Amino acid sequence: MKRILITGAAGFLGSHLSDKFIDKGYEVIGMDNLITGDMDNIAHLMPLENFSFHHHDVSNYVHVAGDLDYILHFASPASPIDYLKMPIQTLKVGSLGTHNLLGLAKAKGARMLIASTSEVYGDPLVNPQPEEYWGNVNPIGPRGVYDEAKRFQEAITMAYHTYHGLETRIIRIFNTYGPRMRVNDGRALPAFFSQAIENKDITVFGDGSQTRAFCYVDDLVEGIYRLLHSDYSLPVNIGNPDEITILQAAQEVLEIVEGTTSKIIHQGLPKDDPKVRRPDITKAKSILGWNPTVDRHDGFRRTYEYFKTKLK
Ligand code: UDP
Repeated sequence: MKRILITGAAGFLGSHLSDKFIDKGYEVIGMDNLITGDMDNIAHLMPLENFSFHHHDVSNYVHVAGDLDYILHFASPASPIDYLKMPIQTLKVGSLGTHNLLGLAKAKGARMLIASTSEVYGDPLVNPQPEEYWGNVNPIGPRGVYDEAKRFQEAITMAYHTYHGLETRIIRIFNTYGPRMRVNDGRALPAFFSQAIENKDITVFGDGSQTRAFCYVDDLVEGIYRLLHSDYSLPVNIGNPDEITILQAAQEVLEIVEGTTSKIIHQGLPKDDPKVRRPDITKAKSILGWNPTVDRHDGFRRTYEYFKTKLK
């Protein structure tokens, strides 16, 4: 049985990844310091023999007993309001945490996949963004703590690959949504769904003309699974290129949430908020044979069902 360490295992993506690898017959070792993760996300895995959980902050030295075949590094605050509240932890987990895990991967002879992000492209001057685009990032802006940590993470991962011959994989994740997102994580879709369910104002920042392209979590997880098992070590974008404005996303949420009396209001646009974002997924298609399969309407419905249960 292959053994895989998943950091951020109690988080949104980490918990779905834990499910996936358990389903595929792996032994999963989950690790999380629970600053944004939630044990509810993995409660169903805790009784399983091939799942174990370590409450640990990977920014400190990481010890795992026994062999390891793979490491997925998904620990990090990932929402703009989280990294505003936890700037130092965000920088540390992307830099020191990644360094610790690369060291662990090297010691164990494990293959390591890191969760990078579309944020490495910053407020992009080209749309859609191909992997070759170097980005437009403000290093000292409010998002810089996340963007630069992730850029450093890519750099040190490539250095371990080049200088130590470590097997590494880099995914650049674009906006992803679905069940297990935190209701109050501050991101657009959890905010809009919870506001609509609770008949509160829907807070669209700015005029809502900024765009995002939302990928359903199951599609993302499939892309990660394929990338891990591929032999491609340069960054690969995974996301759904179906780009919409934030205003349209708010309107679609209102259409889905039955009986809501919420109205859209506009609030100030956060500093350095990217104006456009859309993945170029040519590489994911050709190298991994991957394509998103869940359309937005279907994904929004499934997400609504989840938030309903959380807000009851
Ligand atoms: N946004 C919004 N209202 C909210 C939360 C977010 O209009 O209550 C906007 C935000 O300004 C951004 C977009 O929605 O333009 C996506 O924000 P999110 O926090 O989901 O992630 P980002 O893509 O910016 O990392």
